[in-house]
Amino acid sequence: MNSDTINLKAAAIRAAILQHEADIEGLDREIGDGDHYINMKRGCEAIVGIAPELEALSAADALNKIGMKLLSTIGGASGPLFASFFMSMGKTLKACDNITIKEIALAFDAGVQAIMQRGKAQAGEKTMLDVLIPVSTTFKQLAEQDKSAKEIASALKAVASEGLESTRNMLATKGRASGLGERAIGHLDAGAKSCQVMIHSVCDLVLSN
Ligand code: ADP
Ligand code: MG
Repeated sequence: MNSDTINLKAAAIRAAILQHEADIEGLDREIGDGDHYINMKRGCEAIVGIAPELEALSAADALNKIGMKLLSTIGGASGPLFASFFMSMGKTLKACDNITIKEIALAFDAGVQAIMQRGKAQAGEKTMLDVLIPVSTTFKQLAEQDKSAKEIASALKAVASEGLESTRNMLATKGRASGLGERAIGHLDAGAKSCQVMIHSVCDLVLSN
């Protein structure tokens, strides 16, 4: 992984988020305040906008820079959470000489742990973590088993979709939807949806190469 491949992934994520505007916006309107799509779009545009700057950096520094940029551009609860993810991923990769799939899996996991710490949340609370935690667990397991990038990408797509679907019948205990009690049941979480969309877009890129 280098900053060129990071820029390709950022462009793919931006395109996928824009393509899923209606879903993402609709979900946050149902059980949130309706701004999640705008927040995601603003973040994606900001990262695609600094592509030339990122190109000059190592992968670790580019991820850290992405985190800092997201912190200053995305509002809402999700901004600082995504920022923590990328900064923590960057910090973990900074210590590696040679970035392999195993290192990426470990850095992804460090990013997910950072979200958990920052948001004081765990699995089962109807948030983005219900996609990110199972994806990270499977990613680490398959990387440890020396599976190919394509095998991992297709497995992670399935896990991300299952994780998203799992939020439907959860009560929300974190974020804005937590005030809704039983009324949140039957709705998917918006942040989980954006994470599923982003993970699918990156995995599709891996599968198309
Ligand atoms: P806001 O909730 O401030 O309007 P967004 O709409 O951008 O911010 O993001 C909402 C999403 O953030 C939720 O759908 C959920 O997935 C995620 N989220 C909210 N609080 C937390 C938390 N404490 N931990 C993890 N994810 C959270
Ligand atoms: Mg919102």
